[in-house]
Amino acid sequence: MRRTKIVATIGPATAAPGPLRQLLEAGVDVVRLNAAHADMATHSSNVRRVRELAQVLGRTIGVLVDLPGPKIRSGLITGDEVELVSGQEFILSGSDDGKGDAHHVATTLTDLAHWVRPDDDVYLADGAIVLRVLASVGNDVRTEVVRGGTLRSRKGMHLPRAEAHVEPFTDRDALALEMAIAAKVDFLGLSFVRRAEDVERVRAMLPKRGIRPALVPKIETALAIDNLADIVRVADAVMVARGDLGIQMPARSVPLLQKEIIRFCNMAGKPVITATQMLESMTRSPLPTRAEVNDVANAVLDGTDALMLSEETAVGLFPNETVRMMGEVAESAEAWPRQRVVPEAAGADGDRVAWAVAHAAVQAAEDLGVAAILCPTRSGVTAHRVAAFRPRVPVAGISPNTQVLGGLSLVWGVQPLVLPENLDANEQLRLAIAAARTAGIVREGDLVAFVFGSAGPRAGSTDSVRIVRA
Ligand code: PGA
Ligand code: MN
Repeated sequence: MRRTKIVATIGPATAAPGPLRQLLEAGVDVVRLNAAHADMATHSSNVRRVRELAQVLGRTIGVLVDLPGPKIRSGLITGDEVELVSGQEFILSGSDDGKGDAHHVATTLTDLAHWVRPDDDVYLADGAIVLRVLASVGNDVRTEVVRGGTLRSRKGMHLPRAEAHVEPFTDRDALALEMAIAAKVDFLGLSFVRRAEDVERVRAMLPKRGIRPALVPKIETALAIDNLADIVRVADAVMVARGDLGIQMPARSVPLLQKEIIRFCNMAGKPVITATQMLESMTRSPLPTRAEVNDVANAVLDGTDALMLSEETAVGLFPNETVRMMGEVAESAEAWPRQRVVPEAAGADGDRVAWAVAHAAVQAAEDLGVAAILCPTRSGVTAHRVAAFRPRVPVAGISPNTQVLGGLSLVWGVQPLVLPENLDANEQLRLAIAAARTAGIVREGDLVAFVFGSAGPRAGSTDSVRIVRA
């Protein structure tokens, strides 16, 4: 059984009911909707479709909506396309005349001239073109083209570190947030986060009661790397967003940053997704490159909880094959013996008893060769904590609440299981074993570890581990 989770972005190739069903059946754990594209009505109806299909398939499928965040773009180009040549001068204008050309273009960051200094690098065309700032002149910025290329209308632009001053929450973010909350999605991806406050600001906008979406800051700016520890601290989960990160930082540093971010999250006991170009060539080819297979396997060996597909499943020609390939490569990489993780959160987090009980359950599972660790959980946190120790046996996160289970869809090694009721501990244990047997992770006569709260199934009251025979 595969432990690493798969997140698949849906789009024109996979959003219709037939293709979506096939994609889910290929092994997707979490469906991602990118609110940077398409309208909100389409996204809400896609969320509804995922929920319906999950029910039909009898599976827990999480839903992640990415808020677009403050992406800076250059403006319109007359004729839509212009060639910038290395060595030439180029002006980033503070006022938008809608007529960009080989000499100037407007940007969505109109007060840009305040924030850049001579010798700063500015990236146009999603990183393809590099400019070096010469000087600010009034509201304009004079630059020299360091690496030329083709500039088209409204392409992504990056100014690493000068971006600290961009307004983090746009009108489109507000629309996407409203849609995501109404649709009760499980996860919110936060694009272009720069510091912990960017995450906390969104958290303050979530409903005050009930189960709220988990916040997943995407680490994709140079500033987020500077503030990594603070961002991980306030996050519920994290995404290594290698696409934009590889523009803001030298691409050669991304493999090392990936290892560092994953380790950080493992230590903090927070789920982490590795994203972008994992099986990129499968967008057009039925087979991946050797390098891509290695990349997927290495992300698993780094300790990622989840692997993400973007274009491969949103617009690709082989979405189902890609998901299956990713699953097979991940499962095979999981066989490699790795060192046991002991999260630092186990000692630092408020609930030290619950962490110690989770640790004890994993240790006992190892010593006794139990078949599975069963975690009835009100909030999901118990299953999270057990999984953070990376046990070799399946972890069942058991709850009557589909929203709690949705939150577990991203977590390494956790199989979400529906339990109809939860009563006292004995009754709960009996039902949990029955659910685990139905799911095929426990057979009659197997030993199981049962992690629970002896005072009853209240969130955060976990204080016991029992070893019983199924
Ligand atoms: P995106 O984020 O696909 O929304 O750009 C992921 C990344 O930048 O890697
Ligand atoms: Mn990105």
